[in-house]
Amino acid sequence: MPQHTLPRPICAHCDGFPTVAITTGHTTPDGHRHTITAHCPACHGTGHTTPTRTNIRVGV
Ligand SMILES: [Zn+2]
Repeated sequence: MPQHTLPRPICAHCDGFPTVAITTGHTTPDGHRHTITAHCPACHGTGHTTPTRTNIRVGV
């Protein structure tokens, strides 16, 4: 069975959820909730760690 997808290490800081929307509590003039987005500083919003040779321990 051919394997086309390389195993991509999930970012240990954000568990693969690099971008989160934070509700500010205000609403925009068109009625939507105003949110700001924050990107994971470790993976810069990619959700995956950079392919370096550093040892990353995930878990406890
Ligand atoms: Zn991350």
